[in-house]
Amino acid sequence: MRARVDPEKCMGHGMCEALASEVYEVNEETGYNEMGEFETPDERRAAVLKGMTGCPEQAISILVDAPSAAR
Ligand code: SF4
Repeated sequence: MRARVDPEKCMGHGMCEALASEVYEVNEETGYNEMGEFETPDERRAAVLKGMTGCPEQAISILVDAPSAAR
């Protein structure tokens, strides 16, 4: 699955990493999550959602693949 951290919304609270460190990582020096768009195994969906719902800035979103072109 793919997800994205919007660098313009991230305010560096670090909640994402605190809630789901297996998915999210904040820059130790800046405190901001600088992952941008990333890919993670589907098995981590629950952790992705946990960090996403815990982010106070709603900076995290799940990316859904566009449906394949109509035949
Ligand atoms: S919880 Fe949200 S605002 Fe805080 S570091 Fe993570 S992505 Fe950024």
